[in-house]
Amino acid sequence: MNHSQNIPFLDLVTPHVELEQELTAVFQQVIRTAGFIGGPMVETFEKEFAAFCHTERAVAVNSGTDALRFALMAAGVKKGDVVVTVPNTFIATTEAISQAGALPEFVDIDERTYNMDATKLREYLESHCTVSEEGKLISKRSKRPVTAIVPVHLYGQMADMDAILELAEQYRLLVVEDACQAHGAEYFSRKQNRWFQAGSMGRAGAFSFYPGKNLGACGEGGAITTNDARLADTCKMIRDHGQAKKYYHDIEGYNGRLDSIQAGILSVKLKHLAGWNAKRRERAAEYNRLFAASEGGVRTPYEPSWSRAVYHLYVVRTEDREGMMAHLGKSGIGTGIHYPIPLHRQRAYESLGYKVGDFPVTEKVASEIVSLPMFPNLTADQQGRVVNEVARFLQTALATTK
Ligand SMILES: *Cc1c(COP(=O)(O)O)cnc(C)c1O
Repeated sequence: MNHSQNIPFLDLVTPHVELEQELTAVFQQVIRTAGFIGGPMVETFEKEFAAFCHTERAVAVNSGTDALRFALMAAGVKKGDVVVTVPNTFIATTEAISQAGALPEFVDIDERTYNMDATKLREYLESHCTVSEEGKLISKRSKRPVTAIVPVHLYGQMADMDAILELAEQYRLLVVEDACQAHGAEYFSRKQNRWFQAGSMGRAGAFSFYPGKNLGACGEGGAITTNDARLADTCKMIRDHGQAKKYYHDIEGYNGRLDSIQAGILSVKLKHLAGWNAKRRERAAEYNRLFAASEGGVRTPYEPSWSRAVYHLYVVRTEDREGMMAHLGKSGIGTGIHYPIPLHRQRAYESLGYKVGDFPVTEKVASEIVSLPMFPNLTADQQGRVVNEVARFLQTALATTK
């Protein structure tokens, strides 16, 4: 074992080098036919990805942000609506809501899963909304109609969908899953007594194929999954300037198509996704075991019995987060924070009028979380070094505070 070797936060090189021949064959095939946009490679990938997600349909688009935006628009979210989500997510979640013409409003997260807390959602719907004379659910905060919920399956673990879907049904709200970090994550519905794939429980699911995601393109990419054929067809129109037939524009749309090269590349990589996810789960279990043996100091991820997470990120919590990251950095270990500033505290959302203390769980968690190196080919030796350095840091920190 070479102790001087750095441990990256993410290794994107190895999986692509391993698949280099297959990936370059895609490129060759595309340049020989010059079928750069759409066509059979995109259609094939859509069928394969829908099968992977156990949905009837998948519509490939050019990013996860567009997937979410198009899904919300196609599901019927309108200008001036309110869409409820969490402040502990990447800004793309709320950008998509705003770009669909709606206003994001937040509910806090669960302190153990870091995902939407269904009890907070219930509280929001019961106490922070009223029902108008026409029977519409109106947000007291913005006086606008609440029409949809976007649960985010953050870090590769699904939100508690049974509870969220039950509230959605009760209040007649649409649910679009932000599954951009959760390709292949699973959820056991106690209500339906079976496992579900991420992206198959809401009206639609949105996925990102940004290179660092569990399934990543060699560039940008995204997809919408759904069992609703009409919603899928509307998304296909929206991604292609609102046309189903060339130059016949039923609505205004966007240029949101996926490149054929990226679709071909994604088909090659999709064959490995289940295996890569299984390895991520093994790596997470190894971290958990090593941290348990090193006698605590950090809080390791919580996976409820109803969840099979795919560990897009392995996130731990500690009080002196900055100190720990600096120490790990000096030891050549890459780390990240997902995310340091909750969305309601971002300058971009000053106009929403939220203040410090509005989402105490998110705020507390955001100051303590650290993402450790996590990728399928991370080795047990590397993990041993990460956990040793964390333990060494915590011991020194403890000794200096005594
Ligand atoms: C990556 C990501 C997105 C956006 O995906 P892009 O492909 O980068 O547009 C949206 N939501 C979450 C939670 C993400 O992690």
